[in-house]
Amino acid sequence: MRFAYLGSGSRGNAAVIATGKVCVLLDCGLPLVEVDERLARLGLSADDLAAILVTHEHGDHIGGVARLAKRNRIPVWLTAGTLAAWKSAPREFVRTISPHRAFELGDLEVLPYPVPHDAREPCQYVFGDGSRRIGVLTDAGSVTAHMRQVLSGLDALLLEFNHDRELLLRGPYPASLKNRVAGGKGHLSNAQAAELLAAIDCSRLQHLVLTHLSETNNTPEHALEAASAALGAAPEWLVCAHQDAGLDWREVH
Ligand SMILES: [Zn+2]
Ligand SMILES: [Zn+2]
Repeated sequence: MRFAYLGSGSRGNAAVIATGKVCVLLDCGLPLVEVDERLARLGLSADDLAAILVTHEHGDHIGGVARLAKRNRIPVWLTAGTLAAWKSAPREFVRTISPHRAFELGDLEVLPYPVPHDAREPCQYVFGDGSRRIGVLTDAGSVTAHMRQVLSGLDALLLEFNHDRELLLRGPYPASLKNRVAGGKGHLSNAQAAELLAAIDCSRLQHLVLTHLSETNNTPEHALEAASAALGAAPEWLVCAHQDAGLDWREVH
């Protein structure tokens, strides 16, 4: 299996997950022209995408989904709650899922799981091909026991390191937004993400990608330092996904 990011952060998220046979897009919060350009830089075109999987209805995750789905006739998978909260969903292409039930897209196993976030029915995903598993967690304000269980023993983890608590508190956001981001249904801080890493089995990890970094309330240095401390080392497979540059293909062996 392999994965890459078109972009990661509050100005637009999109990741690509691929087996030898199936290639899917996870979220699409980027304008179509950017999607095409960034897919091309990974050697892909929109016609290569078998599905778009959506985590929740916030604009940085769905901003480009409807146009892309309609233009290239790509099925969009999401929870019933996300669909209900998304007024302009491309209904003819939508397939609803339970955030508790695994399903398959060709040889790609998809396991959705629910997360606490201020959206209607948000979920995140673990992807597998029968022997390797890639887990994704962004947009969660806190970590549940179920999340720790689902994210243990993965081969690759794409994990939100949204903000440094101190930078957020001292930063320019209004108090209401600070409270939202730091709240139990907001976003994971560096410390919360590091705490999760320390609590799960990371012994198989080949890749840890720090994602959804705030450009206002975090820096790659702060995030990498927190992750390294949690792992007890700074392995070369520890990287940040960038808002504009995304992340080039990473192979999971
Ligand atoms: Zn987001
Ligand atoms: Zn969100």
